[in-house]
Amino acid sequence: MERVMIIGAGGVGRVVFRKCAQHPEIFREILFASRTVSKCDAIVSEVPSPRSKITTAAVDADHVDELAALIDRYRPELVVNVALPYQDLSIMRACLKTGTHYIDTANYEHPDEAHFCYAPQWEMNDEFKKAGLTALLGCGFDPGMTNVYVAYARKHQFDRIDFVDIIDCNAGDHGYPFATNFNPEINIREVSAKGRYFEDGRWIETEPLEQKKIYDFPGGIGSRDIYLLYHEEMESLTKNYPEIRRMRFWMTFGQSYLTHLKVLENVGMTGIKPVLFEGHEIVPLQFLKALLPDPASLGPRTVGKTCIGCRFTGEKDGLPKNYYIYNICDHQEAYKEVGAQAVSYTTGVPAALAAKMLMTGVWKGAGVFNIEEFDPDPFMKEIGPWGLPWEETYPESAEF
Ligand code: NDP
Repeated sequence: MERVMIIGAGGVGRVVFRKCAQHPEIFREILFASRTVSKCDAIVSEVPSPRSKITTAAVDADHVDELAALIDRYRPELVVNVALPYQDLSIMRACLKTGTHYIDTANYEHPDEAHFCYAPQWEMNDEFKKAGLTALLGCGFDPGMTNVYVAYARKHQFDRIDFVDIIDCNAGDHGYPFATNFNPEINIREVSAKGRYFEDGRWIETEPLEQKKIYDFPGGIGSRDIYLLYHEEMESLTKNYPEIRRMRFWMTFGQSYLTHLKVLENVGMTGIKPVLFEGHEIVPLQFLKALLPDPASLGPRTVGKTCIGCRFTGEKDGLPKNYYIYNICDHQEAYKEVGAQAVSYTTGVPAALAAKMLMTGVWKGAGVFNIEEFDPDPFMKEIGPWGLPWEETYPESAEF
């Protein structure tokens, strides 16, 4: 395989494009398509003498036939979907129609319902299998790298995993009182939803941000408040590792972010149902998105680091064991390399490397897969040199 198509010229799309363009020996031809083609052109112009053949195109990926026609014209072997979760199903349909492999970084979500799950994508397994195509879901950082960490820990560190805590810290400062580090609509929908974690075979629901802890992060970040959220990788990981007795997901939020969010919620600005305003229907959250800083513009002004990783408790060779594996990514270093802050960087780099795994045939299979279903070793071997090195410790206590 040598031709890849990237859909979505946002913060993450920029990183996927820049990383693919760094590897012309794998990605010989890149088609970069998005709703607004000028955004693709602007990103492409940042790579002055590309060694891959690059084409840009406008496409509305909500429309299967329009997208399939573009795919048919260009004939990529693989589509990397870094548009929005709303487009997952239409892009998968277009891939099936044209015989193209598929990768994404976020599971399907309906625009009118703040609910996401893998079911509609997993339901396409038979069709992908029959077509001899691979659909690889959730290849960002979380989901993505965190799933690979679980597969890697289970393969090399544990005979049995009992507890997993995924802990996501963004200790970056962009200087705005309120902004989101990736698509504001998706981000706010995720954060304002009820929390949920998995314990002893069932899901336990919490009120939004009800459970809070303080976590002492490595890499000079120090103590931060972390809040329990539901996050999509738990759905596939609890299915693929049924031995896991408890799995939780935690994310850091600063007080200013939470105060702004509360006010916006209280006045109805985070709603996703249309309201009538001066004769026009508007969706409050979409209007809010238009007012907030574009996440892609945060790169030059964000300083600090992210630290995302997984903390495990389980058993190895008959003895109890604790293990923590994580990546630390510096916002300014990411910006220097690809013109994007670390949240886009940590998402785009695993997506580009997953694309390499499929393009080179290191990972292959017919059907719909989550990333933890493939061998983690070749990915772990390369992810450091690709920009996201990992560190590991063996905490004395299972508690934190
Ligand atoms: P952005 O909003 O910055 O970018 C999305 C891009 O997709 C925009 O350029 C937009 O075009 C384009 N787009 C939207 N709708 C369509 C459409 N119908 N057809 C074609 N293009 C379209 O988002 P991000 O880059 O921050 O996020 C990209 C994806 O990555 C999201 O799915 C997000 O959930 C996921 N993500 C995953 C993470 C992980 O760790 N797994 C972490 C962060 C994000 P236009 O500009 O014209 O509107």
